[in-house]
Amino acid sequence: MTGRPSKIVCVGRNYADHAKELGNDVPAAPLLFLKPPSAIIANGEAIVLPKASARVEFEAEIGVVVARKMYRVEPDAAERWIQGFVCLNDVTARDLQKTDGQWTRAKGFDTFCPVGPRVVKGLDWRTLEVICRVNGEERQRAASASMVFSIPILLAYISQVMTLEPGDLVATGTPAGVGPLRPGDVVEVEIPGIGVLRNPVQAGDE
Ligand code: MG
Repeated sequence: MTGRPSKIVCVGRNYADHAKELGNDVPAAPLLFLKPPSAIIANGEAIVLPKASARVEFEAEIGVVVARKMYRVEPDAAERWIQGFVCLNDVTARDLQKTDGQWTRAKGFDTFCPVGPRVVKGLDWRTLEVICRVNGEERQRAASASMVFSIPILLAYISQVMTLEPGDLVATGTPAGVGPLRPGDVVEVEIPGIGVLRNPVQAGDE
């Protein structure tokens, strides 16, 4: 990653099996929320568990990096605005997500957006795969083809709302298998063709 994006636009419930595991319906249109750029950490840096949450979970996702200013682009053209893809972990305080209603706190703690290890160009959005392991044990695996809304549809939809700037990140949703993180864990997000984003987990002071 070079520099901090102006925003991280995230998509909720974009895999039917994950929506189901949390007791939610698949939305009729993409469900959007934002993570603050201050949550970003790099490959190898620690996810810090805040004392405010008793249940912090991993969410392995395919991250899309926007190539250039994008506003009101149609789905058929949207892939031309993709700079590349990156592994992303949409770390979530699941208890706070439920009690707060709004997701800003649950999704927004510092260190809650590991991104890396590199942005790779030229991959086909139709045939990506995302895998998550905790302490070497596989917990999530899904193909981009099983998304409810495809990557070009997501980009076009977001661009109807807000201007995407060069370097902005779009987190495209997590598949089934999410679960809690504990101090001492090591969580990995792998996208074949990109590599492995690996982050240790530690307890926070507050
Ligand atoms: Mg997510």
